[in-house]
Order: sequence, then structure tokens, then C-alpha cells
Amino acid sequence: MSLLGDIVSVTLAGMMLVNQGIMTITPQHNADSPLFLVNREWRISGYYIPELRLANVPGQVKRLRPEVADALEAMYAACKAETKVTLVSVSGYREYDKQERIYAAKLKRVKGDVEAANAYVALPGASEHQTGLSMDVGQASLSSDENLSGTFGGSKGGKWLKENCWRFGFIIRYQEGWEAITGYSAEPWHVRYVGVENAAKIHANEMPLEEFLVLERKTIMLDLMENNGDSF
Ligand SMILES: [Zn+2]
Repeated sequence: MSLLGDIVSVTLAGMMLVNQGIMTITPQHNADSPLFLVNREWRISGYYIPELRLANVPGQVKRLRPEVADALEAMYAACKAETKVTLVSVSGYREYDKQERIYAAKLKRVKGDVEAANAYVALPGASEHQTGLSMDVGQASLSSDENLSGTFGGSKGGKWLKENCWRFGFIIRYQEGWEAITGYSAEPWHVRYVGVENAAKIHANEMPLEEFLVLERKTIMLDLMENNGDSF
């Protein structure tokens, strides 16, 4: 191989390592990672559309990422088997455009008061529903108003969900007392997929995803430093 070829391949290899390193250290910025972070601060582009499939569960708006649909089906079946409660899908994947329309309608209702609108509706690109990793869960026996409210949180299905969703890789993303960190009011119906291993840790530590990601990054960096130390 020519000298130039050597230089190019070494440079490319170096760049790949750097890119992989950054993605390893910050999985929250990798759209393919189950730890991909979306909130008011970290918004997704309108061009971002994940791979989706229709979850085989009762309810509406049932599209999710394939692995998330699998997990949701298993979770709903387990809830039925353990409590006899039928859970339904209220809202899964939501397009950027739809979120834009919902936000615009809210802004109009509050007469252009941006702060008031932001308190209730996520800005386009700031909704986790655009990732295909989130689902608003309801209980079949409740009305549509009761689902998406505190009533769901106090229901048999809502309580089971809070205690057991981690077994299937989900977390209750927005909880009371976390508003300043997550940017959203408590939503006992909104589950977010992070994978079973992460969900088990987050559930055991009872912490918001944002906090878990900080700890996780520390762990990853310490591991990397230890491993690099071995090779020198
Ligand atoms: Zn939601």
C-alpha cells in the first residue's frame, strides 16, 4: 500500500474510533440507542422518523419501534395474566407535524402566551412520542378522560404498571417531584422504553432518566479509562 493510502486508512480508523467513543460515552445522543434522550432541551429534527410497526394490543395510535412493540405486547399480556386488567394503547408514535399542530392549537387557545402553552404541550421535536419509544398506557375499563389523568395512576392497571413496567424494559418517565429535571408534570400513564437492563437500574434507584444518564456516562468513562490503562 502507498504511504498516502496508509495515512488515509490510519486517519479513517482514528476517526471511526473517535466517533464510536463519543457514541459510547453519550448514548443519549445516539438515536439508535434505547437511552436516546428527548426533552425540552434536547429536541429532535422533524426529519427524524424511526422504524415502526403496529403493536398487537387493543386501543388506538399503536405504532412503535419493533422491539418496543414486542415489549409492550409482553407487558400487556403479563398484566392481564397477573391482574385480569386489560391495558390499552392511548397514544404511541406521534409525527413531528402532528405535535406542531397540537402545539399551535394550544398556543392559540392561550392567546399566544408561550409560557402557558409550554406548561401543557411539548414543543415540536420535544415530545418523546416522536422517537417511537414511548406509549401512553390506558386501562380498558376507564373513560378516555380518566385515562391520561391521575385516575389512571390510582387504578389497578396504573399501579401494576408502576411496579412492573421495568420487567419489560419500560420506565414511568415523568414522576412527581421530578418536574424541574424532566420538564414535564407527573404522567403515570407515559412509559418510555430503555431496555430491561437500564429499566431495572432506573427502577431500583427511583431516578429520572436525565439523572441516570449522568451516572451512566461516569460509569462508561471510568470503564474506558480502566481498559485503556491495561493496554499501555
Ligand atoms: Zn405521553
